[in-house]
Amino acid sequence: MSWIEETLYPGWGQRFRVLRELAREQSPFQEIVIFDSESHGRVMLLDGAVQITEADEFVYQEMITHVPLLQHGAAVRVLIIGAGDGGVLRRVLQHTNVRQAVMVEIDGAVIRLVRKFLPGIAKDAWDDPRAHLIVGDGIAYVAEAQDSAFDVIIVDSTDPAGPGEGLFTAAFYRDCARILSPGGLVVNQCGVPFMQPDELRDTSRRRACAFPYVSAYVVAVPTYVGGFMTLGIASKQPIERIPVAQIEARAAQAGVLGTTSYWSPALHNAAFELPPYIAAALAN
Ligand code: SAM
Repeated sequence: MSWIEETLYPGWGQRFRVLRELAREQSPFQEIVIFDSESHGRVMLLDGAVQITEADEFVYQEMITHVPLLQHGAAVRVLIIGAGDGGVLRRVLQHTNVRQAVMVEIDGAVIRLVRKFLPGIAKDAWDDPRAHLIVGDGIAYVAEAQDSAFDVIIVDSTDPAGPGEGLFTAAFYRDCARILSPGGLVVNQCGVPFMQPDELRDTSRRRACAFPYVSAYVVAVPTYVGGFMTLGIASKQPIERIPVAQIEARAAQAGVLGTTSYWSPALHNAAFELPPYIAAALAN
C-alpha cells in the first residue's frame, strides 16, 4: 500500500495511507489530488496541501461559517470566495435567514472533481435556488462589485501563494469593506500560527488598513496540523462578545442549533480567547 505525504512544510508533515487514488489533475491554477485514505475517508490536496478530509471537514466549515453569520445575527446576503469543495456553501444555506449566497471559486476543476468524488461535502447545496455560483477570480469580483449589500464575506482560500495570494492584501480588504453592509463582517483563514507565524500578523495589519475592528478566533482542525488554526475577522462595527443565551437563540432562529458537531453557543465565544502566542501575532 502506498502513502501520500503532505508537502506544505519543507521539513515536517503528515502522511496518509492511500487505499485508492481517484483523481490527479493539473488545472490552470493548481494540482488537484483526491484519494481514499485508510484513516480520514476521502481527502483532497491542492498543490500538495490538505484542503479537506471527509472525517474532519465539519470542524473548519462550521467555524468559518456559523461564527460570522451568528455574530452578525441577521445575515441575508453572503459572499463566499474560494471554498470550491462546497462545504461552506452548504453551511451558509443552512441559515434560514440567508436569501442569497454568491460563491466565487477560481478553479472550475476543483468544483467538477469535488462534485464527482466528494458529493457529500456540499450535498444538494449547488442546486439551492439561493446559491449563485461564479467560476472566476474572487479578487476581481470584489474589485468590480458595485453594490454594498453583503452582510458576511467568507474567504475560504488556499494559503497565500498561487491564485490565493491576492486574497490576503490590503487592496482586497478595502474592496471587501466597500461591498459590506455597515454591520458586515469578513472572515478569512489565517493559517496555523505555530507553523505559519507571519500569516496572522501580516493579514491582521492589512485588515486594519481597511477595517477599524480586527480580531481572530481559533479552531482545532485535526488535519491542518501544528496546533490551532486561526480565522481572522474584521468589521466596521465593534466585534463584541454576545451573551451565550443570545447566540443560542440566534442559532435556533436560523435553524442551525443542534446540527453541529464542533460549533456550539459557548464555543462561539470561547474561540475568541487566544493563547498569548497567537494574541501577540494579532497585536503586532
Ligand atoms: N476548506 C479548505 C481549506 O481551507 O483548506 C478548502 C479550501 S478551498 C478548496 C480553497 C479554494 O480557494 C480552492 O479551491 C482555490 O481554487 C480557491 N481560490 C484560490 N484563490 C482564489 C481566488 N483568487 N479566487 C477564488 N477562489 C480562489
